[in-house]
Amino acid sequence: MKEIILIKNGELALKGLNRSNFEDILIKNLRRRLKQIGEVEVRKAQSTIYVEPKSEDFDFENALEQVSLIFGIAAFSRALVCEKEINDILTRSVEYLKATLENVKTFKVEAKRADKHFPLTSPEICRELGGKILAAYPHLKVDVHNPDRTVFVEIRDYAAYVHAEQIQGAGGLPVGTAGIASILISGGIDSPVAAWTMAKRGLKLNAIHFASPPYTSARAEMKVRTLLSKVARYSSSINLAIVPFTEIQDQIAEHCPEEYFTLIMRRMMMRISERLAAKSGSLALITGESLGQVASQTLPALVATDSVVNIPVLRPLIGMDKEEIITISRKIDAFETSILPYDDCCTVFTPKHPKTRPTLSLCEEAEKNLPIEELIEKAINETEYSYIY
Ligand code: ATP
Ligand code: MG
Repeated sequence: MKEIILIKNGELALKGLNRSNFEDILIKNLRRRLKQIGEVEVRKAQSTIYVEPKSEDFDFENALEQVSLIFGIAAFSRALVCEKEINDILTRSVEYLKATLENVKTFKVEAKRADKHFPLTSPEICRELGGKILAAYPHLKVDVHNPDRTVFVEIRDYAAYVHAEQIQGAGGLPVGTAGIASILISGGIDSPVAAWTMAKRGLKLNAIHFASPPYTSARAEMKVRTLLSKVARYSSSINLAIVPFTEIQDQIAEHCPEEYFTLIMRRMMMRISERLAAKSGSLALITGESLGQVASQTLPALVATDSVVNIPVLRPLIGMDKEEIITISRKIDAFETSILPYDDCCTVFTPKHPKTRPTLSLCEEAEKNLPIEELIEKAINETEYSYIY
């Protein structure tokens, strides 16, 4: 029995002239992901993408799982491949549909004939297959208006395809269609969710992590890598920059008033990230900030953080509650890792009374003794790069 995966792309349908470009990127993403499973042909025809295994031992279940993670896919189904010949369609479909028809009471058949040379019309195909199914599974009735299950028969260029259950895809837009942006990733709950949310809108991700050994441990860095690998299951590989942050924190602690520690730290992160973004082709930064969640995420604090950079800062979680964020975190299997209790650089230097309503001039005053430019250059020179798959 030969099966393929039929893919309907989601919002792509709306994209007019860009559509073909979007489809090509989606196909590239599919090929890249699926070639790890085995030899496979991916092609498009009539607004459907066909994924056809070419090797005997192709792990079909794994392929379905991978397809379910790829952005830009609204729905997909596994389908039986038949000869374009009615008897072959009838006999093999009845057996193939057994599992999906066993647990329902009503069904209907819908037929589509892309190949008009096929000798039977669509209503004739429906009647023939409907009759066969009724004979084989006497518990079933036909309901054309509101069936429990719809069986689709598609007569296409090379073959006929039969399928009955659509699986929901990951939605969104294909990664790579929206450009590149850099996610500032900590070990927490929020930033991996922010990364996933923007990858879903078609952004290719780079990542930046600020590490402060020995205040932060090697395990904390591993945690960040694990979180990024969870995101990479959806977004594909991520280029990670690890920036040494210890000296900057020490200098902040030495030269700045305590109530400004977090804010100045965040301003330093933004300054460095802007420069790393320029080097890596990123057009924007992404953070996991959510309005009012902590002292450094009040509106005045966000304004003070933004004011040191010109690059746009995307904050996809800005209007979300923690519960909403956690729901996504669980869905992408990041939550259990995020709550592992390793310190990150922010928890180490948290002031007792953080400034919640900073003004720009007060921030500038507070960091006036910090050798900002020198620290930035040194941190960038010592940044280490790796790939997360
Ligand atoms: P998260 O759950 O993502 O850690 P948070 O609520 O703990 O977020 P903060 O620690 O204030 O918030 O950080 C806000 C944002 O700043 C994070 O979402 C992340 O984008 C960025 N950030 C914080 N710490 C780091 C770090 N060590 N390296 C890179 N980015 C960081
Ligand atoms: Mg954090």
